[in-house]
Amino acid sequence: MEKRIQKNSEELFIKAKKYFPGGVNSPVRAFRSVGGTPLFIKSGEGCHIWDEDDNQYIDFCCSWGPLILGHNHPKVFEKIVYTLKSGSSFGAPTYLENELAELILKEITFIDKLRFVSSGTEAVMSALRLARGFTKRNKIIKFDGCYHGHSDSLLVKAGSGLVTLGTSSSAGVPESFANQTIVLPLHDIETVKRAFKENKDEIACIIIEPIPANNGLLIQDKEYLHELRTLCTEENSLLIFDEVISGFRVGFTGAAGYYDIKPDIVCYGKIIGGGLPVGAYGASEEIMSNISPDGPVYQAGTLSGNPVAMSAGIAQLEECLKPNFYEELEKKTKYFVESIQSHCQKNAYPVNMMSIASIFWFNFSTKKHIYTAEEISGDTSQFNLLYHKLLDNGVYFGPSAYEVGFVSAAHTVEKLNEASKIICNGLDEIFIN
Ligand SMILES: *Cc1c(COP(=O)(O)O)cnc(C)c1O
Repeated sequence: MEKRIQKNSEELFIKAKKYFPGGVNSPVRAFRSVGGTPLFIKSGEGCHIWDEDDNQYIDFCCSWGPLILGHNHPKVFEKIVYTLKSGSSFGAPTYLENELAELILKEITFIDKLRFVSSGTEAVMSALRLARGFTKRNKIIKFDGCYHGHSDSLLVKAGSGLVTLGTSSSAGVPESFANQTIVLPLHDIETVKRAFKENKDEIACIIIEPIPANNGLLIQDKEYLHELRTLCTEENSLLIFDEVISGFRVGFTGAAGYYDIKPDIVCYGKIIGGGLPVGAYGASEEIMSNISPDGPVYQAGTLSGNPVAMSAGIAQLEECLKPNFYEELEKKTKYFVESIQSHCQKNAYPVNMMSIASIFWFNFSTKKHIYTAEEISGDTSQFNLLYHKLLDNGVYFGPSAYEVGFVSAAHTVEKLNEASKIICNGLDEIFIN
């Protein structure tokens, strides 16, 4: 197929580069990883998006996960508009915060209280402060291959030794800060035990994406996650599940429900806001009583619990709670992923599709299952080739080999068949030529 015309996107990008670093307001959008010009998106409806040159795409990025109902779902749209008619923000409590909290707390029974914030980053950053305030300890453990937003404590990569203190992965993060974060490999419980031993009574918490989905899809063993829970309990450290992607995605109760593990603090984002900026963290009454104004851990936000954003979240989560919502979504995703996988198998292409619930990832390697960041192939050239073939044929993914794809309730079997065919053709062109 011909390369699509991207004239308007190209012109907009030239302008945007004058206004924003890299022309964007979040780095991965700049297409640096896959090359070429980012598409400027004009509209979305159901599982489709249209760019500024009116090209249509089946969208598997879904705004990086939040749009589990697809674009512009009528229920979400109506509720947003209804609320907006009464004003957009008051900086005072509204009943909508109660409503969204009730929806969540009724189902997610291991937390008693929540605090709404405006992004996943904020939720995680606040959860860490809470863990430190509650335990009166400073160090934290995180894992290589998990992303937790861009707060200082978490822009940290592993040092040179196995159980050494971290070193900052971004300019502007003081080493003295990074030093408080211990970075360990995933899927290796022994290193966690050692870290606890070498930092006795100093570790406030372990933070993990229970379903790591920001650096490929690194699905962990259930036993490993349960062992983390046990270790945290034994060491009086808190276990924080960063469920900004997995929350309300692999089931309403997220990975905690999926694996039957009760974290001490849970962080949400993405789906919880129905496409508007919402994050949240929650824990038991005992832990949450440390948050201001009840307790000494300060955390606040001018637009926290914003009524329009709460409305979008309520409307979306109400749909998610309908019978068989997650079962249907999982069934469709499985069907889609297996159709690609069987094509790869038949032709002996070195691609293994990884998936869980409605999240999937193109693993360009012969390894059937990958647990750690280290195992991911550093060669993204095949994905990048595929990426542009898909764009030219009307299928949109997040622009990086390390990003996962999402199936939404708006993706019909017919559309999934169409996308699968385009993907399989793309793979043929890459591997046969
Ligand atoms: C997206 C994400 C974040 C950051 O959320 P933002 O809303 O982008 O700040 C944190 N943790 C995980 C697991 C995420 O996927």
